[in-house]
Amino acid sequence: MITYSIGLKNKFRGITVREGMVFEGPAGWAEWSPFLDYDDATSVSWLRAAHEAAEQGWPAPVRDRVPVNCTVPAIGPEKAAEIVRASGCSTAKVKVAEPGQTLADDIARVEAVRDAIGNGRLRIDANGAWSVDQAVLSLKELRRFDLEYVEQPSATVEELAEVRRRTDVPVAADESIRRAEDPLLVKKLDAADIAVLKVQPIGGVRACLDIAEQIGLPVVVSSALETSVGIAAGVALAAALPELPYACGLATVSMFTSELVTEPLVAVDGFLPVKRVVPDAHLLDAARADAERTKVWEERLMRVRSAG
Ligand SMILES: [Mg+2]
Repeated sequence: MITYSIGLKNKFRGITVREGMVFEGPAGWAEWSPFLDYDDATSVSWLRAAHEAAEQGWPAPVRDRVPVNCTVPAIGPEKAAEIVRASGCSTAKVKVAEPGQTLADDIARVEAVRDAIGNGRLRIDANGAWSVDQAVLSLKELRRFDLEYVEQPSATVEELAEVRRRTDVPVAADESIRRAEDPLLVKKLDAADIAVLKVQPIGGVRACLDIAEQIGLPVVVSSALETSVGIAAGVALAAALPELPYACGLATVSMFTSELVTEPLVAVDGFLPVKRVVPDAHLLDAARADAERTKVWEERLMRVRSAG
């Protein structure tokens, strides 16, 4: 097991450095990188995903490339448009409902992205920050920019269901699936039109395929901000799904200041190739965490192994 520590270009989820472990098994390289604020019990499914990658490998792909979206953080309209134009993607995901910002900020950003993406697709993600009434009011304003869907407008599954009844914008569930005791509650309460699935939190590519089948909704595969080693698992899931009607949120390695592989999984013309990746010895060495952080991760791994 090798512990890595890689800087992020911009603060994300409150962190500026991403840490995790990578290792090689008989089936290939695997990444285990639960965020540091996740407890041991939560990190067990992340370890299941890593074991699948290392020991079992992934189901056969049905496509050889995967469409991906660019992600626009809660920044000003000019910068937002720049990100979209530089990305080469024809789908953009715009963060909205940022604490401390107003609906006018969201409208300005979404309008700039609509201009920049032209006839492309535009989705927004509120990360559960709106109340039901705020969501309905905001969507009334934002729907004129032709929204593909709104991701997690409010926090709970019950709220998602209510928002969905009160707007004609399709609703995608993200946190409501990966943080839920019952990921299928979204389906039972008719709370979403689309399911966002992430391989590590859900416990592997096969576990995600099972949920996709049971939930009966179109799936968008997203990353948990992994290196290319972990992103390859998300790409494998997207490649194995019988239907893939939406671009996936897997174009995130560009947020890292360095990488573990010589040909990282970076989007070209809006697509990622479907392939396994092998870390480069020099890059792996350069990204290796110091002795203190390595010890933190090795102890964490031992605890999570005994918890799982
Ligand atoms: Mg999300």
